[in-house]
Amino acid sequence: MLLSIIIPLLNEDESLEELHGWIQKVMQQNGYSYEILFIDDGSTDNSWQVIERLAAANPSVRGIKFLKNFGKSQALHAGFKAAQGEVVITMDADLQDNPEEIPELLAMIREEGYDLVSGWKKKRYDSVLMKNLPSKLFNWAARKTSGVKLHDFNCGLKAFDHRVIKQIEVSGEMHRYIPVLAKNAGYGKIGEKVVQHQARKFGKTKFGADRFINGFLDLITIWFVSKFGKRPMHLFGALGVLMFVIGFGFALYLGIDKLFINKTGRLLTDRPQFFIALTAMLIGTQFFMTGFLGEMILRSKRDTERYTISERLNM
Ligand code: UDP
Ligand code: MG
Repeated sequence: MLLSIIIPLLNEDESLEELHGWIQKVMQQNGYSYEILFIDDGSTDNSWQVIERLAAANPSVRGIKFLKNFGKSQALHAGFKAAQGEVVITMDADLQDNPEEIPELLAMIREEGYDLVSGWKKKRYDSVLMKNLPSKLFNWAARKTSGVKLHDFNCGLKAFDHRVIKQIEVSGEMHRYIPVLAKNAGYGKIGEKVVQHQARKFGKTKFGADRFINGFLDLITIWFVSKFGKRPMHLFGALGVLMFVIGFGFALYLGIDKLFINKTGRLLTDRPQFFIALTAMLIGTQFFMTGFLGEMILRSKRDTERYTISERLNM
């Protein structure tokens, strides 16, 4: 089989039929052998019923249903495990990604030898404040820390050589950094293609600005793990902050005392209390760093298969 098209979705029942028809048209026009893998990430609308109908009519449609919402990364991971095609395409279900880009993406993988090609929504139809600005910042940070020179890490439309997706484990909110995971696994030939992007036709985005904090911590984790390796430590971050704050407060008090209240008193460095305050700050900082390390290790080792599959179609 040539192509696997993986589509993670959460409550997209209004789009699925049109999306399926559109993909089918592109597949037939090009004579591709293909499968469409719908991964229903715990929808509560009629998405799964629509997928059942599509799968009954088209044997190339396969489906995996999660028992509840586990997140886009998990959905992609499940799709990657099930995919059988030589080239794997991921795309969003909301009709924002255009299936007519597939032939060119495919050619870049098969003929130009890319391991991975990522779409670039150069002209983007999303909210500027909630989406475009935060993602500019993130793409910049991701480029700087990973050395992967993409403009649009988060684009749902991507193409992969099947070896790449079998190798990487996508967990947490890591779907944004799949190209970085690929590079870290040794698949460094990463391309980018400007793709058309449509405004969302139905419903609204499932990713608000709040998810960026998680995404950012994941980015730091990826960078740290690839740079320094994994170190088994445990976390006492909160204790560290507390100690630092106490030490800092104490030092501040001593300083104010010296400058304004007891001006003629002893030098700060002659007072043992000052060294106690410094020590508290140092130990606090160390505790905090240890906590941060623990947090990053947890994030990077999160169980990759924590999702529960409740139903399968044509599998
Ligand atoms: N999605 C998912 N699980 C989630 C959230 C989103 O499978 O927990 C799917 C969603 O249905 C869509 C794709 O991920 O197919 C991208 O989501 P969305 O369009 O909301 O993100 P945006 O395009 O706004 O970044
Ligand atoms: Mg979208």
